[in-house]
Amino acid sequence: MSTLKEEAEGLLNKMIEIRRTLHMNPELGFEEFETANLIKSKLDEIGIPYKSEIAKTGIVATIQGTGNGNGKRIMIRADMDALPLQEDVDKPYKSQVPGKMHACGHDTHVACLLGAGEILNNNKDKFGGTIDLLFQPAEEGPGGAVPMIKEGAIGDPENPHIDAALALHITGNYPVKLMAVKDGPLTGSSDEFTIIIHGKGGHASAPHTTIDPVFVATQIYQNLQSFLTRYISPIEPRVFTVGKIEGGTRFNIIPTKCTMYATLRTLNEKLREELHEVIPNFIKKIAEANGATADVSIFKKYAVGVNSKDVNEHIRAAIKSTFGEESLEELDTPILGAEDFFEFSLKGKIPVAMFWLGGANEKKGIIAPNHSNFFDVDEDAFVYGAATLAQAAINYLNS
Ligand SMILES: [Zn+2]
Ligand SMILES: [Zn+2]
Repeated sequence: MSTLKEEAEGLLNKMIEIRRTLHMNPELGFEEFETANLIKSKLDEIGIPYKSEIAKTGIVATIQGTGNGNGKRIMIRADMDALPLQEDVDKPYKSQVPGKMHACGHDTHVACLLGAGEILNNNKDKFGGTIDLLFQPAEEGPGGAVPMIKEGAIGDPENPHIDAALALHITGNYPVKLMAVKDGPLTGSSDEFTIIIHGKGGHASAPHTTIDPVFVATQIYQNLQSFLTRYISPIEPRVFTVGKIEGGTRFNIIPTKCTMYATLRTLNEKLREELHEVIPNFIKKIAEANGATADVSIFKKYAVGVNSKDVNEHIRAAIKSTFGEESLEELDTPILGAEDFFEFSLKGKIPVAMFWLGGANEKKGIIAPNHSNFFDVDEDAFVYGAATLAQAAINYLNS
């Protein structure tokens, strides 16, 4: 058994304090200024040099190994941003900022990475090579990975200096002590659609004198769902969800336009590209059939996230040697949630892997899923997260 578990246990209170400070003071994407200040002060305390203000609030800290190893360079990433959501967890460390909450657990990612960084800094002689700790803004949107890459966080984007990257994501889907690993596709592609339906306004009592864009919007949404079941193979995962509809001012006025905001998820880059053509065409035809017109714009967000089998092997070995076989869960199915961590693979050029860190604990009443206003984590998970990240990086550099 590795001693990294004991080292992580020794750092648990420190990690909890970091996480709770961030949890009480959540900051949204590209506004993580206080978060970055806290990270910098902790890196100073540990004595790890870093570069900051990469893509506004991003930080890359670098630990140089002094032992034997393959001399490669691996990056470990944590995201830092919170969500625009009112927290309803009744705990002493509840968010102090109305309407903002660390509901995806990125506060825990920062705590785990600082814990891993301290462990690695104390064990420099156990590896030869370089480990970068990368703290990234704006994962929840509009995306901080690509701007950090453009600003040189992993070297020249054409000729990056890292050989691999790894990350974890805390999840309410698995209990604490469990870490879930999957080879191949792990997360879906994610694109945002804005659909504006232009009609003709008028009195609600005389719809025949108008072109009702709200009515057209409901037709588009319903027919599109049906159409996609006929157009796409039933064994091909995908989701098209309208998360927001905006139209009208009053119950007796037919408005001139109605806007829908939707997200498209797939696990297949070819299908993704195809649907960027097919869905707008379908929407425009339905609008036309109703005498309306539709503008569709697409914001291409994140690509399908694919885990490297090779990097995963080092994560598996780290989990088994540090916590035993019982902490390792092998997954068959990906999710359609999206992650911009996979942008660091530079479209598959660099092997990368992310694993799920179990954070739920039924006995403590911690059961809410990520993005819920009740989301919380069992902080014992930090021992598992920090030690696994550190050991997996060491394994990689010793392979
Ligand atoms: Zn999230
Ligand atoms: Zn997240």
